[in-house]
Amino acid sequence: MSERYAVIGHPVAHSKSPFIHAEFARATGQDIEYRRIEAPLDGFRHAVDEFRAAGGRGLNVTLPFKSEAFRYCGEPTERARLAEAVNTLDFRAPVFGDNTDGIGLVRDLTLNLHFDVRSTRALLMGAGGAAQGVIGALREAGVAQLVVVNRTVAKAQALVARFPRIRACGYDELGDEAFGLIINATSAGLHEAAPPLPQAAFARAALAYDMVYGRDTPFLAAARAAGVRTSDGLGMLVEQAAESFFVWRGVRPETAPVLRKLRGG
Ligand code: NAP
Repeated sequence: MSERYAVIGHPVAHSKSPFIHAEFARATGQDIEYRRIEAPLDGFRHAVDEFRAAGGRGLNVTLPFKSEAFRYCGEPTERARLAEAVNTLDFRAPVFGDNTDGIGLVRDLTLNLHFDVRSTRALLMGAGGAAQGVIGALREAGVAQLVVVNRTVAKAQALVARFPRIRACGYDELGDEAFGLIINATSAGLHEAAPPLPQAAFARAALAYDMVYGRDTPFLAAARAAGVRTSDGLGMLVEQAAESFFVWRGVRPETAPVLRKLRGG
């Protein structure tokens, strides 16, 4: 019988994870079933318990439950502990929790986009679940300097407090600072908005990256208008999924063919 996995979130109807994991399973000969679970906002724990009781082996966790998933798991990995957020649960005992968003972003930047993050001065916009998950991996990948900027400055300050030597600020404090890499980890693009980033930030940028995928966001449009190379977050989505698949199945699927299919190639 197939082993059962799912993505849990709210909303989750448009998640591409079932397609991605079905492709990974087919390519690697793994017998798994993978579906979507939309849990009520106050019903994460109950929905997870129910899935486990029905024989579920693991879950991907998405908006807005990553912090709750961190509290749910008995054994978080070091990167999940640093992020205080979990996007991958594996129901071995004790329940194992990992965060694969950061490695997913770094793999997309380095392997798919061939962008050398080492020695780069990077700006990370946002201080929510997505930003939380990637700081550790960006540092580990060798980013020289990282600035976290957020609309609600206190949230950015609270976030960087657990990482040494990372500066947090508001958009109006950026002045005419320039960055080699600008990552948009806000949800602004989902609402056709862009964070209030000063134009000077693009002056020396080699890449502008928006974690939102499947649409052209105002941030990416502004970067292109400034002559900066851009990427959406579809590659990150596929790479974080591949790392989750590896956590569960011990097999590392190829990501390029799946990314090509998702881009309609
Ligand atoms: P979240 O926890 O709700 O955080 C949202 C962040 O966006 C907050 O920092 C918020 O600032 C900021 N924000 C929202 N609207 C803004 C605006 N108009 N101007 C400036 N800042 C704004 O969401 P999340 O979990 O971090 O997710 C953020 C995005 O990343 C989502 O769109 C998600 O789809 C995407 N994501 C993609 C991947 C991938 O694999 N590609 C993985 C994870 C997440 P305040 O704190 O001031 O409210």
